[in-house]
Amino acid sequence: MEKKKLYINGEWVEAISQNTITVENPATREILGVVPAAGVEDIEKAVQGATDAFPAWKEMKPKDRVKILKKANEILKEEAEELADIIYRELGCPKDFALKTQTLPYLKDVEQMLDYAKKFEYEVDDDGYKLLYEPMGVVACMTPWNYPLGQVTKKIFPALAAGNTVILKPSSQTPLVAYKIVEAFDEAGLPAGVLQLVPGSGGEVGNELSAHPLVDMVTFTGSTKGGQEVAKTAAEGIKKQLLELGGKSPALVLEGADLDVAAKKVLNTVVYNTGQTCSALTRLIAPLSEKKNVEKALLDRIKTYEVGDPTKKVNAGPLQSQKQFDKVKSFIERGLEEKATLLYGSIPEKNDSYYVKPVIFTDVKNDMEIAKEEIFGPVLSVIYYEGEEEGLRLANETKYGLSSAVFGPEEKAVEMAKKIRAGNCFVNDGKSPTGAPFGGYKHSGFGREGGKFGFREFLQTKAVFDQA
Ligand code: NAP
Repeated sequence: MEKKKLYINGEWVEAISQNTITVENPATREILGVVPAAGVEDIEKAVQGATDAFPAWKEMKPKDRVKILKKANEILKEEAEELADIIYRELGCPKDFALKTQTLPYLKDVEQMLDYAKKFEYEVDDDGYKLLYEPMGVVACMTPWNYPLGQVTKKIFPALAAGNTVILKPSSQTPLVAYKIVEAFDEAGLPAGVLQLVPGSGGEVGNELSAHPLVDMVTFTGSTKGGQEVAKTAAEGIKKQLLELGGKSPALVLEGADLDVAAKKVLNTVVYNTGQTCSALTRLIAPLSEKKNVEKALLDRIKTYEVGDPTKKVNAGPLQSQKQFDKVKSFIERGLEEKATLLYGSIPEKNDSYYVKPVIFTDVKNDMEIAKEEIFGPVLSVIYYEGEEEGLRLANETKYGLSSAVFGPEEKAVEMAKKIRAGNCFVNDGKSPTGAPFGGYKHSGFGREGGKFGFREFLQTKAVFDQA
């Protein structure tokens, strides 16, 4: 078991703080590693280093910056199997999922974004003045545990490509893959101070970074509650913010929909990653007239998933932690108290593993807690409506707005997709291509990640009025 260090000013250094974080494999409870939990003095060093490194990195030719970042991404691509191995151990998802869903698509997105950044025109003549795009400065990145590689790469690559220097605080639950990512940057020859790695508690390190006067921008992916805390602190310092938060996404089924396609699309998002996906379609809103057929399609599909030991050929492993297990279990109990109908599944038994099999509740009302709150586990709520207008109202009646889906005759479904208030909408079997924007409406946050949209978030816009 390896004891890790902090990465500050281009060196692996011991933390001044004596605190540590122990990382566990949720499937086996084996201790995977110990990382330092940075303290205030460590953060001070990291912020100062990023501040000092900023002028030279900003002035470097964009194509030279991109060259270093491309090299880092190439190293990561070569190490994809190893990265997936770390992810599946610290997250508990099946190894194949760790590689094909958690790793490769994100590295592809980076590649496409870097091609865009290479060609990007930082200085253009616009209607009678010069338009300059400049980096924000020092950017603090805070990331969650559920997609531990992708959530990091979606922030640090575009931030660095745009000429910012970066301080990364990964999740305390899955910090190990962030080490592998930072090692790739080090090997690729990133200048000292341009990227710093400081794991530590969100309440302490995250808060210190959001409040620090030398930090110009804060980008946070995590719970809406965490985002609210970060936003309040960052607002005091008038810092630019990019917030990617929670979700409770609707899948609206219209009359005439292919119910097998709908059941497959919806349940894949609910079951894969053991339901620990921000954009999971956890509210299925269907016509009451189709109740029998909808329930048959869901039951036929749900029986095809296997949850179990992630080293085996299964669809999902355990939840990531005891905290997750307790939370998901209490929501399932709440669903029964609220008198929703349990169509499939049961209350998970308390033992020393974190496995929870998929659960489907039907006859759910939109004001029940299981319909309103993000459960972040494999639990689907089916809500029935009468009349399309009611269906649309129920889909939009949520504090969140991250993702959504509509199933039905294509033209009608696209029309409904336009009326849903969420950052994206899948229509029938539509797929999300590399480089598409991702982000939320309402309490799901603001700003967009992914491809060129993610890159543009890290730039200031400046107008120069010269005499030419
Ligand atoms: P979380 O508890 O909010 O934590 C996210 C990150 O922020 C962690 O690094 C955490 O540190 C840190 N943090 C927590 N509270 C903080 C605070 N007050 N100030 C500064 N930093 C703070 O979320 P999580 O449990 O890791 O992740 C699950 C959540 O993320 C779900 O709600 C999910 O929907 C959301 N998510 C959203 C997206 C999206 O793109 N919209 C993508 C993935 C996940 P510690 O680890 O030390 O607590």
